[in-house]
Amino acid sequence: MSSMGPEPLADGFGRVHRDLRISVTDRCNFRCSYCMPAEGLDWLPRHEVLSYEEITRVARLCVERFGFDGIRLTGGEPTLRADLPRLVAQLSGLGVDLALTTNGTTLRSGAAELRAAGLTRINISCDSLRPDRFATITRRDDLDRVLDGIDAALDAGLSPVKINVVAMRGVNDDELLDFVQFGRDKGVTIRFIEFMPLDAQGEWSNDKVLSRDEIIATIDARFPLEAVEAQGSAPAERWRHRDGAGEIGVIASVTHAFCDTCDRVRLTADGMLRHCLFATRELDLRSLLRGGANDDTIAAAIRAEVGAKWAGHQINRVHFIRPARSMSQIGG
Ligand code: SAM
Ligand code: SF4
Repeated sequence: MSSMGPEPLADGFGRVHRDLRISVTDRCNFRCSYCMPAEGLDWLPRHEVLSYEEITRVARLCVERFGFDGIRLTGGEPTLRADLPRLVAQLSGLGVDLALTTNGTTLRSGAAELRAAGLTRINISCDSLRPDRFATITRRDDLDRVLDGIDAALDAGLSPVKINVVAMRGVNDDELLDFVQFGRDKGVTIRFIEFMPLDAQGEWSNDKVLSRDEIIATIDARFPLEAVEAQGSAPAERWRHRDGAGEIGVIASVTHAFCDTCDRVRLTADGMLRHCLFATRELDLRSLLRGGANDDTIAAAIRAEVGAKWAGHQINRVHFIRPARSMSQIGG
């Protein structure tokens, strides 16, 4: 590292990158229809998955060389990876904002240990509050476990707890108000995510996307909202309840892409660095890590990869190309 301290990781459009999304596994105990086929996917062989030491080396380098200040762990289902608190403890030692995205199924037994290891923030995915529908969407009859996991996260003192809801037309669009009421009752923030073309089966279509504007109009009619001012590089746009009962968020990746302010890079479970969720290229960091490359070489490779980042994804354009890997294989 230069004596001048971290040197920001800028791309050709002047966007500075400070946020690292790390997928710790491609495996999952759910089979959400918008993400994976019922039979699952071909899981990575164990030796292709980065060790916690390899992950921590990349994370440390991003923090020390480039001044990264946020790390989010995801997957697949990250809490399925053995001894996840050990990784959390290693990463929390870097002094960054550390968060986790999970389907919530393991939190009753695991939340307190994650909190003790240094995790602060958590996002829990839940796309229906109706048991039958939840089972249809996830192909697992586990709504009670997920709801109990949300309570376990709150009991463990994780804060904030946010609930991710993929909003899909004809699937759960009649539950928007139920979710908002749930968030108000529990004191958690609900974040609606527009359905993105990253399902493994390729069944996404534009007409299944429930748009940000439709979501906000429906909620505002029942629970009056006001927009919260621009939030830098955060993907979620925020609205607060006019009566003071908290906030909601929308991640409008499809209808209002936030590529202009993107500050994220992603590390897949098998050690590929991606400059965009939708990127059609990857940098093979695992080969560098295992081939004995020093930190200077790895940092230069990351800088070159991010330097080649495109202006933004092209969903809704005729020339949009789906990435070869799906959401659970990249790390959402
Ligand atoms: N298994 C964990 C979970 O479900 O929270 C973490 C990984 S999952 C891939 C991360 C997030 O991506 C979840 O909130 C999930 O709902 C979301 N997601 C998956 N496929 C999606 C898609 N096609 N469009 C929008 N969001 C999606
Ligand atoms: Fe698993 Fe998360 Fe994908 Fe659902 S969205 S199948 S929980 S990785």
